[in-house]
Amino acid sequence: MTESTEAALRAEVSAWLQANWSPDQGLVEWRKKLVDAGWGAPTWPKAWYGRDLSPALAAVVDQEIRRIGAVGVARTGIRTLAAATLLAHGSDFQKRKFLRRSLTGEDTWCQLFSEPGSGSDLAGAMTRAERKDGRWIVNGQKVWTTSAHHADWGLLLARTDMDATKHQGLSFFVIDMHQPGVEVRPLRQMNGHASFNQVFFTDAEVPEEHLVGELGGGWAVATTTLMHERRGADGVGAVGAGASATVREGRIYDEERAEVATTMEPYKWYPQRAGRVDLVLKRAKETGKIDDPVVRQEIAKLLILARSAEWTARRARAAQALGRPQGPEGSLGKLAASHVARAAARVHTLISGADAMLSGPDGPEDGIVAEILISVPAVSIAGGTDEIQRNIIAERVLRMPKEPGSADDRPFREVPKNAVG
Ligand SMILES: Cc1cc2nc3c(=O)[nH]c(=O)nc-3n(C[C@H](O)[C@H](O)[C@H](O)COP(=O)(O)OP(=O)(O)OC[C@H]3O[C@@H](n4cnc5c(N)ncnc54)[C@H](O)[C@@H]3O)c2cc1C
Repeated sequence: MTESTEAALRAEVSAWLQANWSPDQGLVEWRKKLVDAGWGAPTWPKAWYGRDLSPALAAVVDQEIRRIGAVGVARTGIRTLAAATLLAHGSDFQKRKFLRRSLTGEDTWCQLFSEPGSGSDLAGAMTRAERKDGRWIVNGQKVWTTSAHHADWGLLLARTDMDATKHQGLSFFVIDMHQPGVEVRPLRQMNGHASFNQVFFTDAEVPEEHLVGELGGGWAVATTTLMHERRGADGVGAVGAGASATVREGRIYDEERAEVATTMEPYKWYPQRAGRVDLVLKRAKETGKIDDPVVRQEIAKLLILARSAEWTARRARAAQALGRPQGPEGSLGKLAASHVARAAARVHTLISGADAMLSGPDGPEDGIVAEILISVPAVSIAGGTDEIQRNIIAERVLRMPKEPGSADDRPFREVPKNAVG
């Protein structure tokens, strides 16, 4: 990026913002202008609401938008994963139908991958999609579906061929969540929140043109979604990267606050699941545990671990900025996030002692410490467990032999299943 390119871009964005931005317009109305001008997602292709800019130049656009306090496009929730997946694999019809509305925040999404018998073994999915009279008819069950209770659309991985091998019989669809064949039942977690759901499909319908990628090519599409999910596996992760809680006044800010409150409701405990390393020193000073040499040593180890994980994440972002494709760094980063979260929970326990078990206003930090202890296990499960990340690193980075049984080339019908179906 030369200085003159940057200056010219800055001037162009600034002039456009001067002419178009006002906090008194509607949120969607503003975002439509931003998206249609290509400034909402400037790294995206020109043909699809972007400007083909490098991440470094896109950061300049972002700085200009923030400088005048303007609102950006919707970047919270599963919509970020949906957009990344559809950009990579969607048909022109799908890109036209979904990408703009995802950026303007008009549509919300959920990720319908895990099933009672297939979480780690995602390729063992049993939910069926059968073609009938020019539509796909879906039957089966998904589980742990974050945000399904307020999603308009779902990214669905379903089996379309029982006679193909496990991975080749899967296809990827976009399913309308507002239809009689889709029943969403919330699940309550041990930390009291209810972010995810069971989803039951009974003759739910998907139009032909909502098949994403090739028939039988669903595994490759799902892998794209997962790589983006894992890359954002820090704190609130990819799903919360764009959440902002501005205190400014004006119609557009009120609408943005309402949007963030709804979309981020399922994720409000995610900072706790990441371990809240930011609270450790403050708590140690408040309790006097900072003077305990054993606790100090554990705090130092945690901060070193957290800092090195952050640098790994920065290296990954730098690689992305240089245009390198998504690689295994997502798995490395996700595994590091699990280590940091677990170590943080341990250090919080050392600092707070038995008080760490007190929830609500009686507990340290208004119960936040207790919430950390019971939320941290989720980091090493969501988006693929630690063991699965280790398998990926072993096989794809270290080129070690594949896990026994993973290259099963029998028709799926004959493969032993985790669930009866
Ligand atoms: C906070 C949160 C949000 C989530 N949101 C979503 C969502 O929106 N959509 C969605 O589809 N899913 C979601 N999930 C589900 C998540 O993807 C699964 O829980 C995860 O993939 C693990 O699957 P499982 O729960 O079926 O565990 P299992 O696969 O049954 O695993 C049980 C244990 O066995 C181990 N194990 C399994 N296979 C192997 C192996 N081959 N080698 C070594 N060890 C192994 C696992 O590591 C684990 O410890 C979410 C989960 C959490 C915690």
